[in-house]
Amino acid sequence: MGEARRKREAVLNGPCPCGSAKVARLCCFNGKEWHKPACTLGPKSLPPSSSVAKCYMKELGSCVAPISGEHIISESVIRVLMGDGEFSIGGLPWLAPDEEKILAPQSLRTNCLCTKHNSTLHPLDNAARYFFASLKSYLEREEGMRHALVSGHDVERWLLKTAKAAAVSKNLARGRTPLSGAFSWDSAILDMLDDPRHWPEGAGLYCTMNAGDRMSNHPRFQLQPLTNAQEDIEAVALNILGLGFVLLLEPLDVDKYPFLRGANYRPGRIIISYPTSTSWLTMSWEDGRTH
Ligand SMILES: [Zn+2]
Ligand SMILES: [Zn+2]
Repeated sequence: MGEARRKREAVLNGPCPCGSAKVARLCCFNGKEWHKPACTLGPKSLPPSSSVAKCYMKELGSCVAPISGEHIISESVIRVLMGDGEFSIGGLPWLAPDEEKILAPQSLRTNCLCTKHNSTLHPLDNAARYFFASLKSYLEREEGMRHALVSGHDVERWLLKTAKAAAVSKNLARGRTPLSGAFSWDSAILDMLDDPRHWPEGAGLYCTMNAGDRMSNHPRFQLQPLTNAQEDIEAVALNILGLGFVLLLEPLDVDKYPFLRGANYRPGRIIISYPTSTSWLTMSWEDGRTH
């Protein structure tokens, strides 16, 4: 057997980098390409029950009380980001522009989803935890070649869920003035959480870092809303572990956001390079484009 074939066989029969504990050929690798399908959440196909007043999914009529008091940023993600140290957050209205706040994982709770809808979105927390845990370990330690695979749509929807929770709990601000929490495409947000195919053309994750940028691996999560003239949220700028992203929540208009022209739309892979090794964080997409 040739060396290339032997390597491919080893990858095919090795553990799948999506973290499923299956072998790759029975999971996300077809011998040529990696693909992790977006998870199915189904909030729109839940049986009718009731509407909980504070739940932002109440219009679906499938709420189950009580309200869940969930974390704005999933607790599992905060624990990953903080590691053994501290975790700080920036961009909140009660902080000065450059100020950061050290937080305990239990803090930053809000009441904006009922128990049922909170648990319906839970698979997104698992996807985000795996994404951030992989990214953080690659940034922290050089340990040879590593590879993790996530669905980009799940990371996008987790960021949307986080932005929505921050917005409706009045934790997003322009300067120090809290915003109303309305999104310009609010009527589509439930569809976008339900199914990645409902994201409008050009909406989604943009990586605003350039190849070769150094990353700081700071245990920090910053969320800054970008708003229109009515102060409705159109996008959020994110800085996570020193990586810069923008999550655009409406169709792309480059005249409005010229800095997105040069940004990497829905990156297919984040590559973390050390002098003697390289690690991959592959993000798979189902939008018919090449990434
Ligand atoms: Zn897999
Ligand atoms: Zn609900």
